Formats: sequence, C-alpha cells, structure tokens
Amino acid sequence: MRKTSQATAVMDNALSLEASKKVIAGGGSSNMRNFGIITPLVLDRASGSRIWDVEGNDLIDVNMGYGPHLLGYADPDIMGAVAAQLSLGAVTGIPHRLDHQAGELVAAIVPSIDQVRFANSGTEAITSALRLARFVTGRTLVITFDGHYHGWSETVLRKAAITNDGQNTQETLPGAPGMIPEALAHTLQLPWNDPTALERAFAEHGDRVAAVILEPVCANAGVVPPAPGFLAHVAGLTRRNGAVLVFDEVITGFRVDLGGAQRKYGIQPDLTILSKVLGGGFPVAAFGGGRDIMAPLARNEAFHAGVYAGNHAAISAVVATLGKLQADPLLYDRLEDECADFENALRLAFAEAGRHVRIARVGSVMSVALLTEAPGTDAECHALVSRTDFAAHRRLQTLCQDAGVYFHPNPLEPWFLSTAHTRADLAHVVDVISRSLAEPPT
Ligand SMILES: *Cc1c(COP(=O)(O)O)cnc(C)c1O
Repeated sequence: MRKTSQATAVMDNALSLEASKKVIAGGGSSNMRNFGIITPLVLDRASGSRIWDVEGNDLIDVNMGYGPHLLGYADPDIMGAVAAQLSLGAVTGIPHRLDHQAGELVAAIVPSIDQVRFANSGTEAITSALRLARFVTGRTLVITFDGHYHGWSETVLRKAAITNDGQNTQETLPGAPGMIPEALAHTLQLPWNDPTALERAFAEHGDRVAAVILEPVCANAGVVPPAPGFLAHVAGLTRRNGAVLVFDEVITGFRVDLGGAQRKYGIQPDLTILSKVLGGGFPVAAFGGGRDIMAPLARNEAFHAGVYAGNHAAISAVVATLGKLQADPLLYDRLEDECADFENALRLAFAEAGRHVRIARVGSVMSVALLTEAPGTDAECHALVSRTDFAAHRRLQTLCQDAGVYFHPNPLEPWFLSTAHTRADLAHVVDVISRSLAEPPT
C-alpha cells in the first residue's frame, strides 16, 4: 500500500468505512459522499491542498470539500479567528458585534446586496429566498434550469433531464423518492442558455412567475457558463414580468471574482444566495438583496429563523475569510494564471493519450469529464451530460486516487482549485492523470 507521509496508520480505509457503515447510513452523511466509490477512502485530516487518509497516505485534493476552500484547508488566519471566537461563545442566539462586520463585508463586496440574513446551508438560504420571492410577488411559480442545483428542498430538487447515471428522462420528476409530487407544480424547469424557451414560458405563465433562479455559471452539471447576453436577457424578461431574479452564487460567490458572477458578468439580481467560500469551510450561508426586497424581513413579516443561523463561530469565519480576500486584490488574477496553465497542461495530457474529454473552466472552478465522443457544442447542460463517459471517468478516478490525486468519481462534480495549490501540486496532478490514462484497461 502506498505510504507517502510519516503519519501513523490508525486503520485500513476499507475496514474503517465498514465500521462507519454500521452506524452511519451509507458511511457518509450526504448521498454525494457515498456515490460511486470503488476504493474506500476515510480521512484523518486535511491541510492546504492535501488530505490524509487513515492509513497515512496523502493525496492532492481537487474536490476540496465541494468548494468552500478557496484559501485551502485549515487556512491559519481563518482557523485563528474561529479558535479565538470559540472560547468567547460559539452561539448565544443574541445579535453579536461580528454580525455587523460580516454583513458590512458582504454588502461592500457583492454588488447587488445591501442587506442579508445568514443561514446554515445553501439549501436553507435558497428555501428562505424563494419563500421571500413568493411573498413579495404574491405568486408561486419558480422557473429553474436543467442541470442547475439549488439544494435538496421540496420545490426545487427535481430529476435532471439526464441523470448522473446517464439515464435520459425528459419527464418532470421529483429529485428523490418521498418528495411531494404536487410541490413540483410550482416549479418549471427550462433548458439552460435557451432564450426562446424562457420567452415562451413567460408568454404562457408570466403573471404566475414569482422568481427565476439560476446558477450564473452552471457548475453542477459540468461547468457551463452563460451564453453571451443570456443573463442580461433573463434579467430583462424577469423584470418586465414583475418576477424576482435570484442568483444562486453558492459556488460562484467570491470564487469566479471577489464580487461573484454578478460582478464578472455585470448583471444585478434581486436576490443572491451565498455559501461555500463565504465561510471558508464553516457551515454558513447568506441570502440578500436591496433594502426594498429585504424589507419584509426587516419588518419581521416574512419568516426566516434558525438556532444556529449566523452563529458566532461561523460568522467569525466569514469575517476572517472575506477580510483576507478583500485585502489581496491580485489574488484572483494569480489564481486565473495558475488555473489557465493547469487547464492547458490537462488538455495536452488528454490529447497525448488520444482521449475525448471536455474541460471547461471559469476561474478556479472547472469541469473535467471523459466523453464517449468528441466534444460538440454544449450550451445546454444535458447535451453535455449525454456524451459523458461515466464508467471510464470512474475508472480514471480510481487509478488517480490510488496514485495520490483525489477528485470526485462523478464526472459532473466540479473541481475546485485554491491558493494553496502550488504549481508543483498541479504539475503532479497532470502527471498522475497522464500515467493513469496510459494504464491498459483491466
Ligand atoms: C452546494 C450548492 C447548494 C447547496 O448548498 P448546501 O450547503 O449543500 O445546502 C446550492 N446551490 C449550489 C449552486 C450549490 O453548488
């Protein structure tokens, strides 16, 4: 077994996962953690760009906890701030001086936000934001886009047109068994980057639409950026029809630009959802917008709550993370240079191996997926998904994991790079992928 560090082995990965499965349903507390595993991996710790398993192996991670760690794992400034706060009270349920600091940072950085409410997870913040949109418009229909993920709540989790297993289902189906099918009567899913479909939907249902919600860069079904002019078109149609435009910037916020996708593309939504990078690895999310749309919450007419919402430990992480990002204006340019070079090196590696691959990237979020055929145009998420070679990708993932590079076995999960990934780390990732691609099929 590969051992690359001096850490003492506590246990075997496989035995450790089996032990967990006795008491944790499926072994991990999220279905995504238990998806597509071939070689068991149970972690001991994480730092910078690396994770260490219970056997003492270290791996370079490009999954990075699904996105929060723009500054790498266990960033000393964030850890220091949280450690200091822990001994001063992690949660009291009473407004705290840090709330003001965190709110001011978010409002200063994110162009469309004057006011926020903090929550614990992206799912919660989205649920609250959509309820607010339905309250202020007095309407119920929410337009979503195929392939975009907005958490697992009742009205927005629905089967993608093409599922993670490559199954094609164009029906409108709940995203999980046990959901209330009628809840989906209040959402309408449209193809991404298709202005005509959106125009038709507004023509048909315009006076029923409460909100349009989207990931401004679709990052949960391969990375599919907005087509030129598409976001402006969505914003125009949404406004003209009196609906609320919601940007789910859970991934793109503080990631594709300090001010998120809304600053990168210059489009102002009415409501914005933030999480992941926001808390630098601590469970926190936010939703916010201008003072007018947040007024029902300011007056306590709309309802949003949570014992741990905006707890002081998580908010101290927000203040430390955003303060650090704001203090380094060149951080995003440096990351862009490094990620662009990494992307080019990866393209070369797949080309030299003679394999079809789709690589798409916006800043430090990227998608790398083996395909069954040459990449065509994929402005729509499901056009891309139908060409993804799930089995070959999973095999590559297993070989790379055994050789010390971790990415998710699902080719639709994005890769996240961080300021902790050195050029040497990324060269090593390319090298491991090249060698794995050269392995003969078993
Ligand atoms: C991760 C994610 C969510 C859900 O956030 P949770 O904290 O897992 O509830 C919502 N929207 C997008 C775009 C995401 O990537």
